[in-house]
Amino acid sequence: MSFNLKAYKDELLFVPLGGTREIGMNLNLYGLNDEWIMIDLGIGFANEHLPGVQVVLPDISFLEEIKGKLKAIVLTHAHEDHFGGIPYYFDELNVPIYATPFTAALLKRKMADEGMRGRADIREVAAGSTIELGAFKAECVALTHSIPEMQAIALHTSKGVVFHTGDWKFDPEPLLGPVSNEGRMAELGNAGILAVVCDSTNVFVEGTSGSEAMVRENLIKEIKKASGRVIVTTFASNVARVESIIMAAQAAGRSVALAGKSLWRVTDAAKEAGYLKDALPFLTDRQAMDQPRDKSVIICTGCQGEQRAALTRIVRGEHPAVRLVAGDTVLYSARCIPGNDTQVHYVQNKLTELGIEVVTDRGAEIHVSGHPARDELKHLYSLIKPRIAIPVHGEQRHLHEHRKLAKSLGVKTAIEAQNGVVIQLSGNEPGIVGHVPSGYMAVDGICLVPADASIIRTRRRLRDDGCVIVALALDEDWTLSDDPQIIAPGSLDKQEDSEILEAMSEAIVEAVENIKRNHSRQTIEEAVRQVVRRMCNNELGKKPIIEVQILRV
Ligand SMILES: [Zn+2]
Ligand SMILES: [Zn+2]
Repeated sequence: MSFNLKAYKDELLFVPLGGTREIGMNLNLYGLNDEWIMIDLGIGFANEHLPGVQVVLPDISFLEEIKGKLKAIVLTHAHEDHFGGIPYYFDELNVPIYATPFTAALLKRKMADEGMRGRADIREVAAGSTIELGAFKAECVALTHSIPEMQAIALHTSKGVVFHTGDWKFDPEPLLGPVSNEGRMAELGNAGILAVVCDSTNVFVEGTSGSEAMVRENLIKEIKKASGRVIVTTFASNVARVESIIMAAQAAGRSVALAGKSLWRVTDAAKEAGYLKDALPFLTDRQAMDQPRDKSVIICTGCQGEQRAALTRIVRGEHPAVRLVAGDTVLYSARCIPGNDTQVHYVQNKLTELGIEVVTDRGAEIHVSGHPARDELKHLYSLIKPRIAIPVHGEQRHLHEHRKLAKSLGVKTAIEAQNGVVIQLSGNEPGIVGHVPSGYMAVDGICLVPADASIIRTRRRLRDDGCVIVALALDEDWTLSDDPQIIAPGSLDKQEDSEILEAMSEAIVEAVENIKRNHSRQTIEEAVRQVVRRMCNNELGKKPIIEVQILRV
């Protein structure tokens, strides 16, 4: 049953369609007086349940119900889990997209790379500014994070102020861009904040997240220590980190090269938005290889072991320019995101095999998280003193823990949400009042399909059990006019399993011949399927997909 939106027209509603009970794919909606705004529209990365799919998006079918009422999309920052969904959905949504200069610069390049230059209505707003959007006034408030210009959104409405944090931390020395605007947060808190919708990523981490300044110091130490070629791999969008690597390279008398498309794209966007002004032009990876080994640092994509990223191609010997030799050093200025462990360890094992020194954030403090640890969360709550807390940007265990933390800090109402819930924030009894459709869409090649589509389920079965395809030539009397043809990709090998295939063929002939009455495609198909199913079960212990094709000759 669909949710009766009309009954709540005059209430302030919050509807997360992505990013709640998961880390990734953020999409948040706020509604009041029949007007809606969206904060962030991100992608997620597919897991092994979606073979052949790398990227997932939130299901936005609910937006049909508020067609014509969505005023705008406001972006908090340029991480993929917050803005990566725009190229897929901007056309359908057809509303202005508000972003700060760096976020806008990166989004425009992303659109251009996808062949969509100039097609989205991207409106640049200065960091810290306020956007008037009908029933909502969206005030951008600077918070530090692992990317420039992260803006929390203080959403001013006739029902109160919602503080939507986005991804954040309190970094006293972010090195690039301003520190978090604690003054404004305290002001808003003192004036009264109705609700906070807050990042839960590191709710289990005690203390504070650490500063980019400390990372810079340690990168300088590590690069000075190295004797051969140095590669530093990091998240391309962490411009402060890239700047730290540049400074560390300079301190060690080395020049800086980039390897990986996204690094060129991000540094280009950063320069356009006024960052990295003092950096010398970067060398290409080819130019770096022409330099003596102890005279360059190559910043490289692939810190998550991504298949096509530069570092992965280097260890496979497939990179067009870069070769590493024993005695070189690879610094991981990044953490391994849970789920990527296998591929990251593959690359690290390969590097070790080649005699290359691998330094990670466990051996040296060359990475800090961009998300708040517990002390930072506590500090945020003490500044803004919300009446309601809604933890987001976390799996269920994070949301649950964050809810308990918020309660322990004196927040009156803390709500554990999930994608698709409708939360009423206004009124005397805020809470979940209903559900709307939500889910995942899989980016499959150039198509968008529901993640539970039969095509994906079939592919999963094919991956796990293979298939058996039987072709039969039958004449007018439903008699076999030739031997059955069997192919079984992923189930039976033509050579190795020839005996089983032969026995299967004989059993199929017998089964077809045994049908004396009620000949039809259906009865024959079913008889053949039964035989194949039984034999696969007995001989292989598997349940492959079985396809029977009948040709009348
Ligand atoms: Zn995020
Ligand atoms: Zn982020």
